[in-house]
Amino acid sequence: MSNMFFLDQCPTCGSKDFSSPFAEKLADDNTLGHFIITHPQKKYDGINLDLFRKVGWRVCNFCTQIFCLKRPMVDGLETWYNQLFFDSEHRDYDVNPLPLKYVQNQKNFADQLYDILDKNNVFEAVTSVLHFRCHAGFLLKKIADNKKISEVYGLEYFENPAKHAQNLLGAERVARITGPEPHNPFKKSKFDLILLEHFLTHAHNPGHFLNYVKSLLSDRGKIVVFNEPDHSKSFLSGSFYRRGINFFHKQLFTNKTLVFFLKAHSIDGIELPHPPGLDWAVANNSLLFVGKLGNIQKPCKQNPQPVTDLIQSWFRKHNYYQKIYWIRKKFKDLKRLTKRAKNLVR
Ligand SMILES: [Zn+2]
Repeated sequence: MSNMFFLDQCPTCGSKDFSSPFAEKLADDNTLGHFIITHPQKKYDGINLDLFRKVGWRVCNFCTQIFCLKRPMVDGLETWYNQLFFDSEHRDYDVNPLPLKYVQNQKNFADQLYDILDKNNVFEAVTSVLHFRCHAGFLLKKIADNKKISEVYGLEYFENPAKHAQNLLGAERVARITGPEPHNPFKKSKFDLILLEHFLTHAHNPGHFLNYVKSLLSDRGKIVVFNEPDHSKSFLSGSFYRRGINFFHKQLFTNKTLVFFLKAHSIDGIELPHPPGLDWAVANNSLLFVGKLGNIQKPCKQNPQPVTDLIQSWFRKHNYYQKIYWIRKKFKDLKRLTKRAKNLVR
């Protein structure tokens, strides 16, 4: 069995005062999560799956961070965790050749994000870039071409997007990663710009991981955090009622708690608004933050009640959708049975 541990403090502000948004019976058993297995032929240990579902959601009473109380250890991640992670995170686009729609979406996304960052002078004085989760490599390619920066490096989970990125940028500039807290495998050890795409939500120990990322920043280095879901919006969205939340998400940030988290870890900066009318599928529910090394800023106490209310209201709607889904499935089964019975009598 895996090494699991219980957090004894909020991963964002360090407060030891936190509580479950659910009543006692559900406090540790309830899962907000769902698990997508795209390889049904694989067998998983039910105990491991259960551990991952029943993680004990908590809300920090000081900074309002929503987080899993129970999680695997960062070091010595067992092979079963990485396999689960890969299978759950596996997406249909990891095929050769890459689907045209995926390529177009990635290109659009890269163009739009590039424009936002360029307008905010993020590329000023930058001579090297590291992108955690670079997908097909379009954003790095655009930065390299437009800003005449040759030192661009990318890390990517999946084989085919990574190959695409290697074709764009050079084989030595893109490496594969496996787990939720990857390390820099390149010879270059400091970067002027680090693009951190959807890693803080997944990190087992987000403070530990952010400190590592900070150690890769040059003195004038900037960090861009993006594609982190804003759960003050996600908890209100229909697809979240139906599906639940990816249970590899260990911290469910909101715009407030992401800024708290970064400032409490001495990244000083601003949240950039997404321009209205942006054709970016996740823009409305995701966070974009730009900052650089500064002083640690301790957040002020917030009222956790609105966040707790939000989770409880999501949970009620989620249960309602689950019931509707169950009834629809039974109804379909019944229809199928009736049809078969009719055919038999005929
Ligand atoms: Zn906190």
